[in-house]
Amino acid sequence: MKSQVKVKVSDLTRYLICPRLVYFSAKEHHEGMAKGKERGFIESILLKELAFNLHKFYGERKEDDPEPEPEAESETETEEEHAKRVIDDTVDGVEMIYKEELKDVEKDFFEEVKEDFIRNLSMSTNTENGDWLEKVRTENGLLELENAYGYEREHAMLSEKLSMSGSVDKLIRTEEEVIPCMIKTGKCPEYSVWKSDRVQLAAYAMLIEEEFGFETTVKRGFVEYIRNAEFRETQIRRRDRALALQILKRVKRIKGGVFPEKGGNAPCDKCVFAEMCETRKTLLSTLFGK
Ligand code: SF4
Repeated sequence: MKSQVKVKVSDLTRYLICPRLVYFSAKEHHEGMAKGKERGFIESILLKELAFNLHKFYGERKEDDPEPEPEAESETETEEEHAKRVIDDTVDGVEMIYKEELKDVEKDFFEEVKEDFIRNLSMSTNTENGDWLEKVRTENGLLELENAYGYEREHAMLSEKLSMSGSVDKLIRTEEEVIPCMIKTGKCPEYSVWKSDRVQLAAYAMLIEEEFGFETTVKRGFVEYIRNAEFRETQIRRRDRALALQILKRVKRIKGGVFPEKGGNAPCDKCVFAEMCETRKTLLSTLFGK
């Protein structure tokens, strides 16, 4: 009989941060904004949306765009003005696209964060601080693929065999390949991609292979560290797949009710479950003298 425990790819990433996050998330369904982290949460959403619209900085077209973005509104529009307009337009739609995620955010606060975000990014599009825009515009493998083939946004997949589902940020399909691409708004590693990102890509690879058929083998993926405008390609190796499967099994056990040990580098000081975790620990110590 197939396992009834359904796992999301994001559970695997959560497990690598701290296995107990999987346990509490399954019990509490606590997603979204941690108290005191509202600004960071909104900024991440704004950055992510910008990553979905990078093609507009070049006047290129993505697969499900109704029409290509004009390169410049008028002949006199400078590159900076164009970039500023793209940022303004993108940020404007965010409230409607992320209605559910932003439902508890005060309108005034959202506007304030949005204004700051636009101001900071616009500052980095002027000639003195043009680093971010410069990097976004620099030729890279991902950009070339997106320009040539477009991408499908938030492609959702489900595998009955693995009892796992997931929605990959961008899915690029060439004549020979299906390539998953993830947008990350957090810190960028010095080289390559974080281990948790490799595991997540391997999980998407397995979902893609099941959806697209046996002859499809996903060999590579991309991670966009959008805050730093770094676009990293990584090979999806056997050991990443093996690790993803191993974690998948552990996540299923946790979601089935097993309370796990905390992670080695668990970020307890900024965890939304800190209180619950402490109570549970105290309860176990009382019961079993641990
Ligand atoms: S408080 Fe620490 S150990 Fe508990 S779930 Fe959060 S990160 Fe993990």
